[in-house]
Amino acid sequence: MSFNPLLPKIIEAVAESIAKNADDITLLDQAIGDGDHVTNLQRGLAALLAQKADISQLEWPAAWQKMGMTIMTTVGGASGSLFGTLFIAMSKALVGRESNVQIFSLAFTQAVEAVKQRGKSDVGEKTMLDVLVPVAQYLQEAVAVSTPLVQLLEQTQQVALTGMESTREMLAIKGRASFLGERTKGHIDAGAMSSCVIICAVADVLLE
Ligand code: ADP
Ligand code: MG
Ligand code: MG
Repeated sequence: MSFNPLLPKIIEAVAESIAKNADDITLLDQAIGDGDHVTNLQRGLAALLAQKADISQLEWPAAWQKMGMTIMTTVGGASGSLFGTLFIAMSKALVGRESNVQIFSLAFTQAVEAVKQRGKSDVGEKTMLDVLVPVAQYLQEAVAVSTPLVQLLEQTQQVALTGMESTREMLAIKGRASFLGERTKGHIDAGAMSSCVIICAVADVLLE
């Protein structure tokens, strides 16, 4: 019996959207990093695509755990351990709980906290956290006032885009880009863009 028919769809949609945006993201990581961010992500996505039938048989906590371990061992770079941490922390936060949008939002917030600790970083430092943190905050606020799902998903996409765009004029404080100091201004952070692309693709699947 398939427990989780949504996950293969989500993995496919994310892989497709990252492929569509690959050149733009690569240009960003070339401008202020080492240019490998998309290659790193696509290695992980290829592994997830290969496992999608197995993943679809798992309940959410086990599925997040398996995806997190796969990301940890295949993606590499700074983003591999950070995205891996996000997924594994999602799993931990969901163990023994129902799956609904409130619990998912709380788990996502806890997972983003785990990424902050892992990266010793926070918003305003020109990283993926400039997308992840505002999205987590928005989700918490939206569920607190029982925002209808369609509105919540559309607004989440908007918050992710705004977060991504906010990195453009920031000075990079963490990761490779921090070595370039002032030269990082004027470029969006690659991990912020990939996070935005991923979140928007997931929301699009849920909006279908
Ligand atoms: P690498 O920098 O090792 O080549 P990637 O290119 O795959 O790894 O990922 C780079 C992205 O990782 C950056 O664009 C940034 O968003 C994110 N990142 C790097 N260091 C940190 C950190 N300490 N905290 C949060 N995010 C980080
Ligand atoms: Mg890189
Ligand atoms: Mg690298």
